[in-house]
Amino acid sequence: MPKFVYDFTEGNKDLKDLLGGKGANLAEMTNLGLPVPPGFTITTEACRYYLEHGTLPEGLEAEIDTHLTALESTMGKRLGQADDPLLVSVRSGAKFSMPGMMETVLNIGLNDESVHGLAAQAGDERFAWDSYRRLIQMFGKTVLDIDGDLFEEALEAAKDRKGTKDDVDLDAGDFRDLVGTYKGIVREHAGRDFPTDPREQMNLATMAVFDSWNADRAILYRRQERIPVDLGTAVNICSMVFGNLGMDSGTGVAFTRDPASGQQGIYGDYLQNAQGEDVVAGIRNTVPLVELEKIDKASYDQLLDIMETLENHYRDMCDIEFTIERGKLWMLQTRVGKRTAAAAFRIACQLLDQGLIDADESARRVTGDQLAQLMFPRFDGAAAKEATKLTKGMNASPGAAVGKVVFTSERAVELAAQGEDVILVRRETNPDDLSGMVAAQGVLTSRGGKTSHAAVVARGMGKTCVCGAEELDVDVKAGSFTAPGGVTVSEGDVISIDGSSGEVFLGEVPVEDSPVVRYFEGELRASDGDELVKSVHRIMKHADGRARLKVRANADNPEDSERARRFGAQGIGLCRTEHMFLGERRQLVEKLILAETPEERQAALDALEPLQKQDFEGIFTAMDGLPVTIRLIDPPLHEFLPDLTELSVKVALAGDKADPQDRRLLEAVHRLHEQNPMLGLRGVRLGLVIPGLFSMQVRAIAEAAAGRIEAGGDPRPEIMIPLVGAVQELEAVREDTLRILAEVKEASGVDVHALIGTMIELPRAALTAGQIAEAAEFFSFGTNDLTQTTWGFSRDDVEAAFFSRYLELGIFGVSPFETLDRDGVGRLVRIAAEEGRATRPGLKIGICGEHGGDPDSVHFCHEVGLDYVSCSPFRIPVARLEAGRAAI
Ligand code: PEP
Ligand code: MG
Repeated sequence: MPKFVYDFTEGNKDLKDLLGGKGANLAEMTNLGLPVPPGFTITTEACRYYLEHGTLPEGLEAEIDTHLTALESTMGKRLGQADDPLLVSVRSGAKFSMPGMMETVLNIGLNDESVHGLAAQAGDERFAWDSYRRLIQMFGKTVLDIDGDLFEEALEAAKDRKGTKDDVDLDAGDFRDLVGTYKGIVREHAGRDFPTDPREQMNLATMAVFDSWNADRAILYRRQERIPVDLGTAVNICSMVFGNLGMDSGTGVAFTRDPASGQQGIYGDYLQNAQGEDVVAGIRNTVPLVELEKIDKASYDQLLDIMETLENHYRDMCDIEFTIERGKLWMLQTRVGKRTAAAAFRIACQLLDQGLIDADESARRVTGDQLAQLMFPRFDGAAAKEATKLTKGMNASPGAAVGKVVFTSERAVELAAQGEDVILVRRETNPDDLSGMVAAQGVLTSRGGKTSHAAVVARGMGKTCVCGAEELDVDVKAGSFTAPGGVTVSEGDVISIDGSSGEVFLGEVPVEDSPVVRYFEGELRASDGDELVKSVHRIMKHADGRARLKVRANADNPEDSERARRFGAQGIGLCRTEHMFLGERRQLVEKLILAETPEERQAALDALEPLQKQDFEGIFTAMDGLPVTIRLIDPPLHEFLPDLTELSVKVALAGDKADPQDRRLLEAVHRLHEQNPMLGLRGVRLGLVIPGLFSMQVRAIAEAAAGRIEAGGDPRPEIMIPLVGAVQELEAVREDTLRILAEVKEASGVDVHALIGTMIELPRAALTAGQIAEAAEFFSFGTNDLTQTTWGFSRDDVEAAFFSRYLELGIFGVSPFETLDRDGVGRLVRIAAEEGRATRPGLKIGICGEHGGDPDSVHFCHEVGLDYVSCSPFRIPVARLEAGRAAI
C-alpha cells in the first residue's frame, strides 16, 4: 500500500508531484530548521484515488490517525480538546500553484466546548467566538456548499444592529450570537447540523479540498495555464497559529526581490492583528513590510534572516507568507515566486553574478514565451484599464496596435501612404489582402482561428492581429462594424487592438516600445546600460553557444530576410514563392491560368520569370553565405483568381454586355473550383499538371544564383517541392529541375549548386520517407499541413468551430496547430526522420511549419535530432533561446 501521509519532517522540496508545492516547501522549511507550525500532508495520490472512486483509499484514515496522534503529542494537546484545543488548518496545495482557485478551512477543532478552552487559553473570549464563527462560515461555504452570501448577510445584519460598519466593533457576545445564527443557516440549507466532532470536521474538509480540484474556476485556470487536468491536489493539515491575537500579532507576505523588476530589497505587506484571509479580503489597509521593523524589530530581523536563508537555499527569488503570534514568527508558506518576464531575465543574471547559479541554470530560468512577451510593444496597463473595451477575440499575433479603422486593403494602402496609422478590419482575410496587411498597423477579423490566413500571415510579419472576434458584426459594404452593446465603429474611427490578450478598445490607448527588439535590431547595444537588455544579451549568448539545432527563417522578401539575419537566423528554411505572385503580379498569374495555347502560356511564364529572378537575387544577397530554401508554388491556383460568387454576379448583371475577358475568367474559376482545395490541385500536383510552371521558377532561382556568383556572392539555394506523397512525384520534378540547372550552367558558364529536397507534410510522405529520401537531399516538415492531414482538421476552420470545446473537454491541452502533437504528428516526424536517414545518412532535416517557433515544439525537434527549425523572423530569438535550452 502506498504511503499517503507525510509529516512535514519527512518531505522535501523535490516531492512536489506527491506533496504539492505548498506541502513540499513546508517540509523543506521544516528541515531547514525554520519556524513552521507542525503538521502533515496527505498526498496527491490519495486525491487522485478519491476523485476516481468517490471514496478515500483504504488505510488513509488510519494513517491520518497515526500522524494526528504524533502531532497531538508534539503540540501537547488533542484536536478539539475541551480545555485547550489543538486547532488545525486544512489547505489545498497542488503541484503548480493555482492561487485562490481551491479551498481552505481554518480553525478545525472548534465546537461548543472547545471554544471555551480556546477562550481560556488565549485569555480572549471575543477572539475564541470570532474564530468559531469563521470556522462555521468557511466550513458551511466550502464543505457544505452553502451560499457564502447568507453568512455575509448575517454578519452585516449583526453590524447594522450594532450601528457599525467594522468587525472590530463586534464583541464576544455578538460573535456568540452569530455562531447561533450560522448554525441555523447550516441546518436550514445543508439539511444537517454543523458537525461538532473535530475528526469528522477534518475528514469532511479534506474531501472538500479534494473536490475543489474539479471546481469550475480551477478547471478554467488550469486550461489557461496549461496545467494537466489529472494531477490532483495534496492537502496540508497544519497546526493553527493566530495573527489576530492582538496588536503584537499579525500576518504578512514578502518577496525576497521585487517580482516586477527583480531589484533586491524588502518587498511585502504586513497587517497587524489579522489572519491571512483578512489581507486577501482587503478589509483593512496593510502597511509596507519595512514598517514591521518599528512594530516588532525582533521578528523583523528574524524574517530578513530567513529570507536570506531561503534565497540562498532555493537559489531563486522566493515569496513567503508568515504570521506573528504574540511576538513569535511563524512561516506558513514559501515558494519560488512568480515574476514578470523582465524580472525573470534580470533575476537569472543577478543570481549568476552572485554565484548562486551557473550560466546553464540562468538559461533554464527563463523561457521563450517570456522572451516573446518582452519583444512586443504593449499598451500602457493603466491606460488600457481606463479604456472602453469593445470585445475580445483570439490573441493571434501579439503586440499593440492603434489606428483608424479601414475595411479594404485599397483604403489601408491609401491612408498609410498619407502617413496614417490604420487597422485593417475584415470578416476574414485572403491573399488579396496582403498589401493592406502590410500597410496596416494591425489586423482584426471577426472570423477564423489562430491558423487562419490573417493569423499566419500577421505572425509572419510580426504584425499585431486579433482574429475570430465573433461578437463583431463587420459590414464591409457599409464601412462599419458593430460591437456588443450596439456600439458602431465606422471607417476612420480610431481603435486599439491588443494581440497579446485579444482585446479590442475604442479610441487610442498609449503604446510602449520594446527595448529588447531594438537590441535585436542592433539599435541598442548591451553596453548601453539597460539592465534588461544586458540580461537578455548574456542569456542569448549562452544559449547560442549551447544550441545544436540551427534556426532559420520563414521569409519571402529581402527586407524580412535582412531582419531575420539581424535577429540571428542561420538561413532561410521556407521562402513561400506564391507570396511573390500577389499584388500587381496577380494578373500575370491570371494570364497563365487562362492561357489556351502553349504560346500564350509561355508568354505568361516569360513575363513572370524576370520578376521572380529579381526577388531571389535580393534574398540571396541578404542571406549571402547561408542556405536559402525556396519552395516552389504551393497553393491551389484559384486563389489567384477572383471570387466565384462576386464574378458570377458581375457577369450575370452585365448580361449580354459582359466583358468577354470576365466570361473567360468565370469559366476558369468554375473549372478550377474545388470542394476541398487544401486536398486538391496544389503543391507538386500543380508542377506536374501545369507545364513550365516549376521550370520557370527553377530557372529564375538558378539564374539569380548564377548572377550572384558572378558578382562575387555566395548564394546557397535549396529547391523544395511541396505536398509530395510519393517518391515518383518527386522523381519527375527532380529530373526536370536537374535539366534546367544544367541548361543554366551551359548558358551562363556558372556552376550553380542547389540541393533538391521535399517537404514532408502528408502522412503518406512520412510513412514512405525511406523511399522519398532516395530522391530528396533534404526534408522539411510542413507541420501545418501535416497536422491538418494527420488529424483531418481543416487548418482554416477548426479553431473557431470547435477547438474551444475540445480544450474544455481536455481532448488536448493546446491546439495541435500551435504546439506539435508529439504522440500523433510527432510520431510521423520521428518515423520519417529515422527512415529518411536510414536511406540517406546525413540527410538534412528541418521543420518549417508554424511549430518551428513554438518553444515546446523546438524542444521536440531537438530531441528527435532535426538539424534546424525555421520560423517567422520575429520568432527567431525565441527559437534560438529554446534551441539552447533544449541542449542544456
Ligand atoms: C506547412 O504546411 O507546414 C508549411 C510550412 O506550408 P504552408 O503553411 O505554406 O502550407
Ligand atoms: Mg504546407
